Amino acid sequence: MTRPDSEISEPWHTMSTDDVFSALATGETGLSSDEAARRLSEYGTNDIHDAERTSVFELLVSQFRDPLIYLLVVAALLSLGVGFIPGGEPNYTETAFIVLIIGVNGLFGFVQDYQATRSIEALRELASPDATVYRDGRKQTIDAEQVVPGDIIHLEQGDAIPADARVLESDELRTSESPLTGESAPVEKATETADEETPLAERRNMVYKNTTVVKGRGSAVVVETGMETEVGGIATQLGEADDQQTPFQAEVEHLGKQIGGLVVALIVLVVAVQFLFTATDPVAILLVGITLAVAGVPEGLPAVVTFTLALGAREMVDRNALVRRLPVVESLGSVDVIVTDKTGTITENRMTVTRLYTSGSVVDLSDSTTKSEGDPGESAQSTADGDQLTTPALVPLLRCGALCNNVERTDDEYRGEPTEVALQRIADEADVEPTGERCRAIQFSSERKRMTVLVDDGAVTAYMKGAPEVVLDRCNTILEDGETHDLTDDKRQEILDQTESFAGDALRVLGFASKAIDDPSAEPDQIEDEMVFLGLQGMLDPPREGVEAAIDDCQSAGVRTVLATGDNLTTAEAVGEQVGLDPDGAVTGSDIDDQSDDQLTSTVEDVDVFARVAPDHKVRLLNALQDNGHTVVMTGDGVNDAPALTQADVGVAMGGRGTDVARQASDMILRDDNFATIRDAIREGRGIFENVRKFVNYLVSTNTGEVLVVFLGVLLGSLLFPAQFSGTSQALILTPILILWINLVADTLPALALGADPHADGLMDQPPRPPDEGVINTRVLVSILTIATLLAVTGLGLFFYALDTTGSLLRAQSLLFTFIVVVELIRIQVIRSRYDQPLRSNPWLVGAIGVSLLVHITVLYTPIHDVFQVVPLTLVEWGLITAGFVVFLLLNVVISALNNRLFESRTSK
Ligand code: ATP
Repeated sequence: MTRPDSEISEPWHTMSTDDVFSALATGETGLSSDEAARRLSEYGTNDIHDAERTSVFELLVSQFRDPLIYLLVVAALLSLGVGFIPGGEPNYTETAFIVLIIGVNGLFGFVQDYQATRSIEALRELASPDATVYRDGRKQTIDAEQVVPGDIIHLEQGDAIPADARVLESDELRTSESPLTGESAPVEKATETADEETPLAERRNMVYKNTTVVKGRGSAVVVETGMETEVGGIATQLGEADDQQTPFQAEVEHLGKQIGGLVVALIVLVVAVQFLFTATDPVAILLVGITLAVAGVPEGLPAVVTFTLALGAREMVDRNALVRRLPVVESLGSVDVIVTDKTGTITENRMTVTRLYTSGSVVDLSDSTTKSEGDPGESAQSTADGDQLTTPALVPLLRCGALCNNVERTDDEYRGEPTEVALQRIADEADVEPTGERCRAIQFSSERKRMTVLVDDGAVTAYMKGAPEVVLDRCNTILEDGETHDLTDDKRQEILDQTESFAGDALRVLGFASKAIDDPSAEPDQIEDEMVFLGLQGMLDPPREGVEAAIDDCQSAGVRTVLATGDNLTTAEAVGEQVGLDPDGAVTGSDIDDQSDDQLTSTVEDVDVFARVAPDHKVRLLNALQDNGHTVVMTGDGVNDAPALTQADVGVAMGGRGTDVARQASDMILRDDNFATIRDAIREGRGIFENVRKFVNYLVSTNTGEVLVVFLGVLLGSLLFPAQFSGTSQALILTPILILWINLVADTLPALALGADPHADGLMDQPPRPPDEGVINTRVLVSILTIATLLAVTGLGLFFYALDTTGSLLRAQSLLFTFIVVVELIRIQVIRSRYDQPLRSNPWLVGAIGVSLLVHITVLYTPIHDVFQVVPLTLVEWGLITAGFVVFLLLNVVISALNNRLFESRTSK
């Protein structure tokens, strides 16, 4: 690949912009899309190939690095090793079978892990940032991966910089280069060329891929993309979604270790008892050990957990919730507080100016201007009562709104922030043309709550807009009907009263001011001082449909919603009330400042609406809630929201609105920006948790049951039937092959289908799960032990009855084998019925049960039974199985009822 710059020896930062343009064959208006497409195929996509991605081989090998698998390997080796003991015969079939099971299981786990990795990667791609470029002379938003050398990019506060680029224009542009240099202080960017020796961290005329714009705006020409960028050299990615082990997975691994330890202890016990107290053949003792090991291992469990989580994450994407980190799926299930912002999440973020206040009078446009979208031409005509807007007194106010504004207007659309679009549109409707050239801008931030621009139309004027009280604070005079007067205390009060009255109707209110400027390069504080107050504009931003219902659903699910907005107190209270929150006692950011951490911990329990909060208030709210033991979802969209998003249990950013920085700090992205999606994600998280609990209960209870069957069976057998149970290598209750078969065929297949179970109704009618409650809580443990004991008692009853009546160990084994399979397949539905789920609600499960049953019948009634060493059962024996099952079920019902009494709550199923 040759780059256009391949012959250029001069570094980018020392060249003049003209030289950069000619070296890259581009210009201020950027590339054409044809040329961009050509360059894309020549230089490749603008992405960083992750050097550390685990290889497929490593993923495969990791499947076998598990203590439970080691246990099975030992079992396989012992099956062979038996042949070397005098009187023993190597059991090749068994060894081969165990090896086969290890292989199949490993492969199965591999496929699950591979798919999970792939879906996480796909999610990562979905969440990858966009870039704003000029192509074909137009500003366009494209996928950052499509950026090519020569592209002109537009940079805005909060953007992730898509590629290495030379700065062309800087409007207080500051970037954070910490991913590259480790330096967290923002770096100011400018256009002047730098010296050759200037180190990377000090090249002010360059911006770099994967760093972010923390302030201001600007434009730059892309000089390097993909692996050619500075960060490409280091090949690490900013805010990369990681795939660390989730708490469920950690718990399952821990469980595996515990089971392994328990099984080893049981083996030692059985071997010791048999060796010391019975005359059992050493080979038989060894076989019992192997069988116990095989019985204890829940082979399919880790793979089923991974499968369920990955499936859940995919389903959440369909519901517009993009999960960036797998563990979040679990945290969602225990969320009990949502701290949400207002604009765009609770409301539609489609603003329309409906009320104006200037020169002491209010102009109400709510009936005449109803349009909130559409092209500029159309809106101009949509003003039914245009007269109201043509009042000369309104012109300075409307002009200020249009000038102190970053919206871009094309023939068919307004591009920009909805607040500013509304201001631009109303100015257009009134035919107020902004005149003059912008020569400087002091940008908006959530902390400053204001923005000022300097415009030169012969003389320089500063135009400011912002939160009314902030703007008022910066004014000492007021413009009324073309004349400037002192801003008396009475006037100030009147303006604040007007603000309250607008806000009381849930309007977002901005104040406007202007002033003639002598020295445009003066300090911001000097410019934004002693200004002339022009008036207020109130904007309507209606609540999103469905938000009230979503807040209500959360409420009944034990999840509290707290509104924390940058907007005015009264507006926040009014909007809060509209969506069903309690505005009583609402608190502002400055109240939060006045409170100690201790006081705040009690405030957050009582107050639902917080107004005028800045990002650092959000962090304090979060700390207080987390100190109180809550699991918190927090939304955020600004650059400075990143710390709160990182710290929240579930940090939520918006797909449409908001900054790349917020998205990269988040755990989950709402593709539709909608609050209701948070509720859906919580419901999904809870459903996934229930499914995991269902199959963990199912799988582990079978394994425990099998261990008990073998353990108790061998001990009872050597007491009750000493003739059969000593001296022969057949002296087992169940052979390892049969146990593996049960675990793999009768268990794993239906367990997988259980992982895909539709979520039960009423998931959102119960309180959230306590965050420290694992999959196996006391209730589940009791249930596992109950089922295991019942399985052992009824199974062994049948086994010894058959042994006693037929005298054939083979018949008794076949009977027990079939009994366990049948119990397993039916028990699945017994577990589900506790969640009021009929069998037909999960066709996968019906299929899985059908296949397992068919396979079992095939094993019994075809010549394969020789391999498994079982015999076909007679009708009478099926009758016995049915009787055994009825006993099992009856005992289960009785014990479940007792259990229910003991553990009332439905959550601890
Ligand atoms: P939320 O936090 O719910 O999204 P918000 O958009 O009002 O609400 P911020 O973006 O922090 O929160 O804005 C705080 C205040 O700053 C706003 O209420 C408004 O008064 C003022 N403001 C918002 N956008 C601008 C802007 N572009 N220029 C000047 N002032 C603004």
